[in-house]
Amino acid sequence: MITNYVITSECMNCGLCAEKCPVSAIVEDEEKHVITDSCISCGSCAEICPVDAIRVIKIKQAG
Ligand code: SF4
Ligand code: SF4
Repeated sequence: MITNYVITSECMNCGLCAEKCPVSAIVEDEEKHVITDSCISCGSCAEICPVDAIRVIKIKQAG
C-alpha cells in the first residue's frame, strides 16, 4: 500500500504547506498548489492546511 498526499480544488493557494514541506515537494500551480513526486508522505502539509485541502489516498500496489 502506498500512501499519497493530494491537494484538492479547495486549495486557496496560501502557500503554508509549501513552507512546511521538509523536502520542498509542494509547488504552486495556476489555481492551486500541487504535490510532486518528491513527497515522502510525512503528513506535515496536511496538518497545517487551514482549509483541509490536503487528503491522503491509499493506493494498492500491483502484485
Ligand atoms: S496550505 Fe492548503 S490552502 Fe494553503 S496552499 Fe497548501 S493546500 Fe492550499
Ligand atoms: S506529506 Fe510531507 S513530504 Fe509530502 S508534500 Fe506534504 S509536507 Fe511535503
